[in-house]
Amino acid sequence: MDLTVSETDDKFRAEVREWLAANRPALPMPSGDSARGVPVHLEWERRLFDAGWSVVSWPEHFGGRDCSLWQWLIFEEEYYRAGLPQRVAQNGIFLLAPTLFEFGTPDQQERYLRRMAAVEDLWCQGWSEPEAGSDLAALRSRAERDEQRGGWRLYGQKCWSTRGAYCTHMFGIFRTGAPEERHNGLTYFLIDLRQPEVTVRPVARLDGDDGFADVFFDGAFVSDADVLGAVGRGWHVAMATAGSERTLSLRSPGRFTASADRLVSLLRSSAPQVRDDPRLRVAVADSWMAARAYKLSTDALVTRIADGASVGAEASLSKVFWSELDVALHETALAVQGPDAALDDEWMRGYEFALAGPIYAGTNEIQRNIIAERLLGLPRR
Ligand SMILES: Cc1cc2nc3c(=O)[nH]c(=O)nc-3n(C[C@H](O)[C@H](O)[C@H](O)COP(=O)(O)OP(=O)(O)OC[C@H]3O[C@@H](n4cnc5c(N)ncnc54)[C@H](O)[C@@H]3O)c2cc1C
Repeated sequence: MDLTVSETDDKFRAEVREWLAANRPALPMPSGDSARGVPVHLEWERRLFDAGWSVVSWPEHFGGRDCSLWQWLIFEEEYYRAGLPQRVAQNGIFLLAPTLFEFGTPDQQERYLRRMAAVEDLWCQGWSEPEAGSDLAALRSRAERDEQRGGWRLYGQKCWSTRGAYCTHMFGIFRTGAPEERHNGLTYFLIDLRQPEVTVRPVARLDGDDGFADVFFDGAFVSDADVLGAVGRGWHVAMATAGSERTLSLRSPGRFTASADRLVSLLRSSAPQVRDDPRLRVAVADSWMAARAYKLSTDALVTRIADGASVGAEASLSKVFWSELDVALHETALAVQGPDAALDDEWMRGYEFALAGPIYAGTNEIQRNIIAERLLGLPRR
């Protein structure tokens, strides 16, 4: 792994930093999971797109800058260092887009990528169902053939769709084969939610935001041109999306190194009896080192990806690591603040969201099963 930073990358970092400093929106923004916050975030993300900073590693043709993955990591570091918020476009640009680049037809890429980067379309993920979470292959929502129109009719219910209440599109997996086919009878669809046969019901989270949606399908239409990958190969395509969700694409290290730096500043600016508490000092140092370790392991991963390797089951190791790191880091921040934590919206909301990390993108128990079976080669039972 070559850790030398090139002059070009240094210049790139300086350019990003300068642009973000000059164009930073008013912070903090209202939550991007609320009706009040979504338009504010959309405006900010459009500004990013117009200036060419939305998706730096994509080809220029789709609104990017043709940058390397290393430069994308630099962009992310600077973005979070500036205290900027998680993107409302994230499920599109960080989860679906890598899958579209890998499996999408040229027509699908033309129709969706640029609009997604410009937040003209907002995408949510439609995998979980009331009876299919960890055991995703048990899903029952189905697609029935509509020969006359050249496509499929969707029936069933998806749940936990993040930001679903505000999205125009969903990428989802539906059963096109028999239920007993499990993983083999699934197909990955790109769905326009703006049709009368779709009902979106917002679901409030404990923090009060309508962060989720239940989405009901009652014969919604998807054309053959919107099948991603082959019919019946949805599981295979979905696992590529899961790989992006569990590691660097959704959770770049910049997010954690920035929080760890803020945690160090929080401790340093605390009252002497807090600042000098050895347990807190050790906990802060642990979080800071874990964030650095995640950065270094991501650097190693990017080196391998640049050499042509794919991520595979290793993504599960990353997922367990960043989600546990995020919880520990926020717990430490609350301990440093003591009772004042209840008055601090930023760390408290960060903590509430961190608690979901071991659940979404596949629970950590499931990731440990994957690590045991596929990386360590242990028996299933
Ligand atoms: C913040 C957040 C955002 C989300 N966003 C989306 C989204 O946008 N789209 C979407 O489709 N879904 C989304 N989800 C849903 C998420 O993918 C599921 O919650 C997750 O897959 C777990 O499924 P479940 O909730 O049905 O729990 P279950 O599958 O019922 O699991 C319950 C418990 O049992 C454990 N368990 C289950 N099976 C096993 C096993 N074989 N071995 C060991 N332990 C096991 C689990 O680890 C868990 O602790 C989101 C969830 C959260 C919290």
